[in-house]
Amino acid sequence: MKSSSESSDAYCLVCGKAVDHGGGFCRLAIGDVMVALCCPLCLDTFNGDKLRFEAKLRAKSEGLLDSQWFTP
Ligand SMILES: [Zn+2]
Repeated sequence: MKSSSESSDAYCLVCGKAVDHGGGFCRLAIGDVMVALCCPLCLDTFNGDKLRFEAKLRAKSEGLLDSQWFTP
């Protein structure tokens, strides 16, 4: 089932919904991090607020935030 190393692409970057590996709507590479998006709507949201989501990702990869980084 799930591997022990849970990467960012297991959850939708925008809404935080769990996305099965290989599932979801699409995935993107931001730097060397793969992220998933669950639906076209979330892709829209991502495109409209790219900088914010990229900043979130960066903060996460630097260990500044834990897995609860989706909370508003
Ligand atoms: Zn989503």
